[in-house]
Amino acid sequence: MAGSMNSGADRWPGATWYEATTEPRRFDRVSGTRRCRVAVIGAGLSGIATAMGLVERGETNVCVLDSNGPGAGASGRNGGFVFAGYSLDNDALIKQLGANRARTLHGWTRQAVTLIRDRIHRYAIDCQVNDAGVLLADWFGDDDSLNGFARRMHEQLGFRLDPVDRHSMPAYVRSERYGAGLHEPGSFHFHPLRHIQGLAGVIEQAGGAVVAGSPVRSMDIANGRWRLRCDDGEVEAEEVILATGGYDRRLCPPIQRALQPVATYIAVTEPLGDLLGELMPKPVAVYDTRFAFDYYRPLPDTRLLWGGRISMAARSPAAIRRLMARDIRRVFPTLGGIRFEHAWGGWMSYARHQMPVLGKRPDGLWYTLAFGGHGMATTTLAGEMMAEALTGNDLRLREFQRWPPRWAGGAAGRAAIQGHYWVCQARDWLRDRFGG
Ligand SMILES: Cc1cc2nc3c(=O)[nH]c(=O)nc-3n(C[C@H](O)[C@H](O)[C@H](O)COP(=O)(O)OP(=O)(O)OC[C@H]3O[C@@H](n4cnc5c(N)ncnc54)[C@H](O)[C@@H]3O)c2cc1C
Repeated sequence: MAGSMNSGADRWPGATWYEATTEPRRFDRVSGTRRCRVAVIGAGLSGIATAMGLVERGETNVCVLDSNGPGAGASGRNGGFVFAGYSLDNDALIKQLGANRARTLHGWTRQAVTLIRDRIHRYAIDCQVNDAGVLLADWFGDDDSLNGFARRMHEQLGFRLDPVDRHSMPAYVRSERYGAGLHEPGSFHFHPLRHIQGLAGVIEQAGGAVVAGSPVRSMDIANGRWRLRCDDGEVEAEEVILATGGYDRRLCPPIQRALQPVATYIAVTEPLGDLLGELMPKPVAVYDTRFAFDYYRPLPDTRLLWGGRISMAARSPAAIRRLMARDIRRVFPTLGGIRFEHAWGGWMSYARHQMPVLGKRPDGLWYTLAFGGHGMATTTLAGEMMAEALTGNDLRLREFQRWPPRWAGGAAGRAAIQGHYWVCQARDWLRDRFGG
């Protein structure tokens, strides 16, 4: 069988810092006919977590297929923040479900954060876990709103966020930009590509298969068996799970048209040496209270990973560097002339309701999609729920039927999302200038 490198280069030129710091691995491709009980299309964290959930429940006859390789999509090229919650914000979740149900569903994402950490320890995955956690920094100097939010989250969701008052913020991050902050206990940040490749290795060791370089071009079902067609072979399976993130819209249009692929960008600086510790005395991962927030975190080799922006467009590494340089200067003016050594982007997938799209079609196809910008915990949670359902218990999965795969509006929907982003960006700017 021919091998294939794990590369996310298609559509986004330029190697990521994650690829540059991960031992390259070769994975088999699909050739001839493979048979398995469960086939998963897409080796992002939603697909890999589903396979992990199955393997841990004793179902090892599973094959995960990817066009490129594990983590080549968003799951191996993201900010590396591992924290609780959905893309839909917590207040909106409470409004839709009431505090009791929202508390349960939010609690599941907190359990998923713990599960990610447990698996990293259990399987000794070397993925640079940093326990300093995640800090939400207030951009607008509005202590009342921030503290009110923390109180509400605790009372209604049982979700603890530890206040960091404005005088204590310099112990975490030294920027004139911020007022107070909220620290999320239990959260952490890590190297997402090494994490997902580590999980892929666990699946293989348990007797499952992970294959790369094998885009699924078409699929159909006859006599209760699925047939997935790749370029050099095919896979036959009893159950199939679609976990293609924001990277495919053709394989199953009735489901995938419920998704809008949305881009976000990351750049990584040259090593900063002691300067990094001066700017960030605690190695927390930071994001802020704007709709269009920055997200950044220190890396073990004293670089700063800087992310931000939401867009409907893929951009060149040079354009991403320019945008990130502008953003970084506003927070850390001393980094005005800093050199970025890596820059890349990735596609996330969003549904209109901003919740994951999970379930099973009448023809038997399972789907786990639409994790937006909050994907590490939610994909892991979804993997657990898919594995539970595939082994006979769909109680938790059924909770998500209230967010069905509704058409996302095609090109007009994309334009609407871009417009909404610009409006929110303008609102952030007005609030920053004039308060309120
Ligand atoms: C730049 C960036 C920063 C982010 N930062 C964070 C963060 O810090 N914390 C956080 O929680 N979330 C973050 N996210 C979101 C998170 O990464 C995603 O929500 C999550 O990884 C989605 O996982 P997935 O498995 O659904 O999709 P993906 O990881 O995109 O995986 C989909 C896979 O399917 C494969 N595929 C597609 N079509 C086919 C086909 N026909 N045949 C075979 N394979 C196919 C692709 O190659 C891909 O590997 C970020 C996202 C981006 C892009």
